[in-house]
Amino acid sequence: MQPKIAVVTGALKGLGFETARQLARQGYQVILTGRDAARGKAAQDQLAKQGLETEFRLLDTADLHSIEQFTTDVLKEFGRVDVLVNNAGIMIDGEKPNTLREYASVIQRTFTTNALGPYLLCRALVPAMVKNGYGRVVNVSSGMGQLSEMNGGYPGYRMSKTALNAVTRMFADETRGSNVLVNSVCPGWVRTDMGGKGATRSIEQGAETIVWLATLPDGAPTGGFFRDKKPMAW
Ligand code: NAP
Repeated sequence: MQPKIAVVTGALKGLGFETARQLARQGYQVILTGRDAARGKAAQDQLAKQGLETEFRLLDTADLHSIEQFTTDVLKEFGRVDVLVNNAGIMIDGEKPNTLREYASVIQRTFTTNALGPYLLCRALVPAMVKNGYGRVVNVSSGMGQLSEMNGGYPGYRMSKTALNAVTRMFADETRGSNVLVNSVCPGWVRTDMGGKGATRSIEQGAETIVWLATLPDGAPTGGFFRDKKPMAW
């Protein structure tokens, strides 16, 4: 049987790298993606030392041309994508905007990476999944995007993750009954560059539910939001 093909965005460090590593260990043909070819090669080398062969392709999820190029090339070269992990994300609200113009810039840049990029990747890759009768999409969201627990602050990050959850719901609806399962996940507070050293979870723990959703069996839930493999409120 051919291995399943998994695309992970933002896969050169943090949760993306660990998700890619765990999927490769499970026998998936993993396509690491990122914005820097030299770092891509370094990530591949690191995995190769653990006996894990992977592919690397350039993909900047904030760049429409990069998304067009990547999705066209990957479908042409591999014929299909079975798993898409929309992991790449930024949290730049810490730039502490003062003027409306600065707020607009932070919020727009965050939306472009955290919500529009995943939407466009789904738009390009999900139809092929539906055609193949198999697909798993994992949108790496955050509890900070939960409407039911919405607090103030971090407007770019919070709104972009709420929007990402909307992407999950839209594609789950569009693909219902096709064996394409589309879910959101909150990895918890994880010790990555984004989460910081004081975070409560290791990267391995943070990746666990992402990988679980990426490898769900047929008939499993779609259109949900999960933390620690359990549904959570939107
Ligand atoms: P991280 O270590 O900062 O990694 C973020 C990744 O996203 C990096 O690989 C980064 O690439 C990539 N990225 C950012 N902008 C990109 C772009 N335009 N194109 C391609 N890749 C891009 O953070 P992380 O904690 O692993 O975050 C992974 C995901 O988990 C994010 O979506 C984040 O919002 C979510 N999350 C994290 C936590 C936490 O506590 N850490 C909690 C909830 C949700 P570069 O290396 O090139 O910058």
